[in-house]
Amino acid sequence: MEKIIFATKNKDKIKEIKAVLGDCFDVISMQEAGIEADIVEDGSTFEENAKKKALEVMKLCSCIVLADDSGLEVDYLDKAPGVYSARFMGENTSYDIKNNEILKRLESVSDDKRSARFVCAVAAAFPDGSCEVVRGTIEGMIGYEIKGDNGFGYDPIFYLPELNKTTAQLTMEEKNKISHRGKALRLIKEILLKK
Ligand code: IMP
Repeated sequence: MEKIIFATKNKDKIKEIKAVLGDCFDVISMQEAGIEADIVEDGSTFEENAKKKALEVMKLCSCIVLADDSGLEVDYLDKAPGVYSARFMGENTSYDIKNNEILKRLESVSDDKRSARFVCAVAAAFPDGSCEVVRGTIEGMIGYEIKGDNGFGYDPIFYLPELNKTTAQLTMEEKNKISHRGKALRLIKEILLKK
């Protein structure tokens, strides 16, 4: 099986990535590959950040490297926090505080103006210097209260009307089937298989 490095230090992401790509590729983390890199995510789009990470790590190992960048877009907040999702209100601020702040900013905003989405861009950098990038999204809305204990980040306020649940009320398997990251990973898998 061809070896692919995923440029992340996040163990949950690696698990999810192995679940999608593991049947066709030997996916290993940067840590497993013994690569150290601290890449500044200074792009203005998810795609720019994912491409930058994938290309920089590829230069260090000369094999196929995948990288992702993801976040939450809230339409009423002009798509904030967007690429700043992890840094919203400061990197070390808890998600309880971040989530409560978003709920506060949407206080008394009607259902039809609470639309939001999770976005995930996944880039694949190849040893010849080329790079492909795909985007997966999941549409939902900002709920009225924090709900659910699964998942991470903004999951407890990301409400899916059709399921009457937040993504924090889904199991990991249920979420992966419909999530932005799951969709982007399945798209990049098609590209990798055609290469
Ligand atoms: P990054 O892609 O690791 O830079 O993380 C982006 C940030 O977006 C995360 O720290 C979360 O705040 C948020 N985010 C991305 N995907 C999800 C998700 O599936 N659930 C909840 N929050 C998410």
